[in-house]
Amino acid sequence: MTVLVPTMGALHKGHQALIKRARSLDKDVIVSIFVNPLQFQNKEDLEKYPRSPERDIEIATIAGANEVWFPEYEDLYPKGFTTISAGPLGDKYEGASRPGHFDGVVTVVDRLFAIAKPDTAIFGEKDFQQLVIIKAMKTKVEIISVPTVREFDGLAMSSRNLRLSQSGRNVALVIHRALAAAKLAPTVEIAQEILNTTLSTDTGFDKDYATIIDEKDFSLAHEGTENRRAIIAGWVEGVRLIDSMPMVGR
Ligand code: AMP
Repeated sequence: MTVLVPTMGALHKGHQALIKRARSLDKDVIVSIFVNPLQFQNKEDLEKYPRSPERDIEIATIAGANEVWFPEYEDLYPKGFTTISAGPLGDKYEGASRPGHFDGVVTVVDRLFAIAKPDTAIFGEKDFQQLVIIKAMKTKVEIISVPTVREFDGLAMSSRNLRLSQSGRNVALVIHRALAAAKLAPTVEIAQEILNTTLSTDTGFDKDYATIIDEKDFSLAHEGTENRRAIIAGWVEGVRLIDSMPMVGR
């Protein structure tokens, strides 16, 4: 029995939490590390994606990986491979800003599953839209999710944080401030207002979207929505950051 933890490397405590969750299942733990060109629309973003393979092997092993797998492009994508569609949810929010991104994600996950043949795979809530799309894939692999791991000051751990300067990092903290404040709002409308005002343009955060959605299908949340979540994306110093948080009042 095998559990797979797919990653793009530059491992941090968020990835470690996934690997530890995998370890707790009492199965062979494979951590895959592959920066998937199919899910990058922006060539610069792909080229600047941080890479630290040796450190990654160490971190993954300490967290409990039995195998750290660095697939080659040709292994995953043999000549004539076909891309899989992520479906309608793949066109919203992250997908609207990064057309084709989720098709690339679903395709690589499908290929990783086909080769590693896990019975379980672990993904983070950090990429919540990705998680929902992967859970909807036609696969027998059981999908387990792990809540977002944060820095002491609330910033969601991300390999992309490495690209921020100290002042950029301070700007990025507004994302968590907005989420934490919206979480306490008594209504969806007020929560949305809090997101709008907290993320106003003078913060230096270049907002793409900040919305309260229904976790099920990413439609706009309303008072009756049972599982609602605030989702935020935008840029700091040209680095795209995303985060999300479940809202109370469920
Ligand atoms: P990535 O290497 O960014 O593609 O992420 C690989 C996996 O780790 C995905 O399932 C992510 O959702 C998850 N992940 C990334 N950052 C975090 C975090 N801060 N907390 C929990 N999971 C995370």
